[in-house]
Amino acid sequence: MSLKTHNLGYPRVGARRELKKALESYWAGRSTQQELRDTAAALRKAHWITQRDAGIEWIPSNDFSFYDQTLDASVLFGVVPARFAHSPGRPVDLDTYFTMARGIDTENHATAGVAALEMTKWFDTNYHYLVPEFAAGQTFALSSSKPLEEYREALALGIKTTPVLLGPVSFLMLGKAYGENPDDLKEMLLRDLLPIYADLLGQLKSAGAEWAQIDEPCLCLDLTDRQRRWYDDAYRMLAGADTPKLLLATYFGELRDNLPLACRLPIDGLHIDAVRAPQEVERVCDGLRDDVLLSVGVVDGRNIWRNDFARSLDILRTARESIGADRLIVSPSCSLLHSPYSLKYEKAMDAEIKSWLAFAEEKLGEVKTLARLAGADGAHSELDAALRENRAMIAARRTSARIHDGAAQARLAMVCEDDWRRATPFAERVKAQQAHLNLPLFPTTTIGSFPQTAEVRGARARFKSGELSAEQYDAFLEEQTRDAVRWQEELGVDVLVHGEFERNDMVEYFGERLSGFVFTQNGWVQSYGSRCVKPPVIFGDVSRPAPMTLRWSEFAQSLTKLPMKGMLTGPITILQWSFVRDDQPRSVTARQIALALRDEVRDLEASGISVIQIDEPALREGLPLRRADRDAYLDWAVAAFRLASSGVRDQTQIHTHMCYCDFNDIIQSIADLDADVISIETARSQSELLEAFAQFQYPNDIGPGVWDIHSPRAPSAREMLALLQSYAEVVSPERLWVNPDCGLKTRGWEEVRPAMRHLIECAREARRKW
Ligand code: GLN
Ligand code: ZN
Repeated sequence: MSLKTHNLGYPRVGARRELKKALESYWAGRSTQQELRDTAAALRKAHWITQRDAGIEWIPSNDFSFYDQTLDASVLFGVVPARFAHSPGRPVDLDTYFTMARGIDTENHATAGVAALEMTKWFDTNYHYLVPEFAAGQTFALSSSKPLEEYREALALGIKTTPVLLGPVSFLMLGKAYGENPDDLKEMLLRDLLPIYADLLGQLKSAGAEWAQIDEPCLCLDLTDRQRRWYDDAYRMLAGADTPKLLLATYFGELRDNLPLACRLPIDGLHIDAVRAPQEVERVCDGLRDDVLLSVGVVDGRNIWRNDFARSLDILRTARESIGADRLIVSPSCSLLHSPYSLKYEKAMDAEIKSWLAFAEEKLGEVKTLARLAGADGAHSELDAALRENRAMIAARRTSARIHDGAAQARLAMVCEDDWRRATPFAERVKAQQAHLNLPLFPTTTIGSFPQTAEVRGARARFKSGELSAEQYDAFLEEQTRDAVRWQEELGVDVLVHGEFERNDMVEYFGERLSGFVFTQNGWVQSYGSRCVKPPVIFGDVSRPAPMTLRWSEFAQSLTKLPMKGMLTGPITILQWSFVRDDQPRSVTARQIALALRDEVRDLEASGISVIQIDEPALREGLPLRRADRDAYLDWAVAAFRLASSGVRDQTQIHTHMCYCDFNDIIQSIADLDADVISIETARSQSELLEAFAQFQYPNDIGPGVWDIHSPRAPSAREMLALLQSYAEVVSPERLWVNPDCGLKTRGWEEVRPAMRHLIECAREARRKW
């Protein structure tokens, strides 16, 4: 006998990113809405069939989205802010949907622009969702029939699916509501929202749905007593309505203090993330009522390693003993949205490493095999072979020479106290830096990259395809760099950058030069809307066989007497934007990367680079979901940065950069990085800067952006000066730098040239005033 199997969601952009292409072509006006819908339907069909053929019983529908499932929920319940000019109660059309996602740019329209919904990270993933906006007089009305249509669409293919809905409490909690205490409004809204959920669920039941999956990932967060009460109230109300059976899905963490709550809700099934919370499975089994099914997510939906069957079987067998085979379901830990499609597209990958991996399609197979293994009562030759093969693979990976690098491990073991800190405190070393660099008040710089023009990307593509020789490509990059250096000198920038023309991506570039990394050909994962990322895979001990950036920094420095800033990506950002090995703590991998960067920092210094920037835009996004876990993370994350950056002389100036300004809860850690200069994004919300940095009296130098490079509009020198002045009210002027708020790779030179001219003017004007 086999246990039952359940999948929570499937990737939707298409194995060949068909949806991405269809969306972008539709947005550009090159294809019709019908063509877009046809592509979407073909993808859904293919995905349902893949899941059915894999033998999955609970197959999701409504997990597809044209842009984002949270936006789908907003549209479904009629949560459309007034600026999108939608009449309440009417169906939301696809173009309004896309306007909510993308806004309307002022640039291209005579009329005023419309701001898109805010976008933010989905829990601790690299997926971004569109934040629901609840207004004061918010009303709800079913405004889309997507869940029903997709249910019927699958049914027409002979596949009975489980519609997936974002649960009412998570929907409210993930959104923003106005007012002094947003939870007051949300509590009122919950009462109005529930009948609409019940109505929709009733319709799904009438259409034939036996089960519905209700996602409540917020059950893995810190909840207030009041929020816990919302769960009780909501599910009591839904239990009284005529709905399909409800399978409530939690994921991305441990339930901890919410475990009794999850167990007592009047539902028909519960899904838990047994990858993040294996130790809770027994307690959940004990706590559930005997008529509730339990879906145990043992296959990691967030990472790409093959499952360790022995480990998963331990968990499943314990659960089976406790609640019986009839009530037990096997599943991935969360939606497979966060996994790439299939290994079958990886034609170039090293065979040994490939044998350790499982992407979405392979994960479905693992779920099925585990269900059969955990359901079997006696020996079964085919199953035993699968188990043996898995055990051999796990053992081979554990002992592989590819993973273990004795030298890297020994080096890590030798790290001592002094390696984690600069020799002298900031207040003193800043004098040495000043004597050496001789910078004016309000020094000017940029964040690193200059426009990655079609010409630059084209040359890189031609080099990769062999059309350009290494020498030709190199000469091209030299020319780009030379032009950029000359332009910065003419403009009067104080600390120059080489422009990063040689880099494809700030993580991939380093991964390609470090041992322990491997790259996929087609391992795309949706980041938001049509955007996908292809994270590197860190499979083994990390080390640096040779300098990574020295060649370009040295070359650029040779062109000028002004300081040239070396440019590195920090250890946490490299970690955060990769698939990381699961056989040692992330903190250890972070330290290995840090040591490799430390060598790079030293090499740069030795070759005469006296300003070195180590970007950490992903530091904040690594924060654990639960407050109780945050300090531990921040400790090792800060330590990794310091390990990378502290091996330099006093006079060498370390910069860091972060693409946000929301530092309120991590300002102590930001200060603990002890970077000499931090550049941050503030152009859009200075009030937060005022709060965090001013209250904390942040001691080192800061460059709060005076130009928001995320918008195509180049501000005037006067606007920049006004911002700078507001910064000078909270940060001492001697500590302030003048810079854009992020790298310029996505902008064009026609925007960068005038904006940078204004920025230099702004700094000069500020110097005259102070
Ligand atoms: N140095 C990088 C750049 O300028 C930083 C990018 C980032 O912070 N995301 O492109
Ligand atoms: Zn940035």
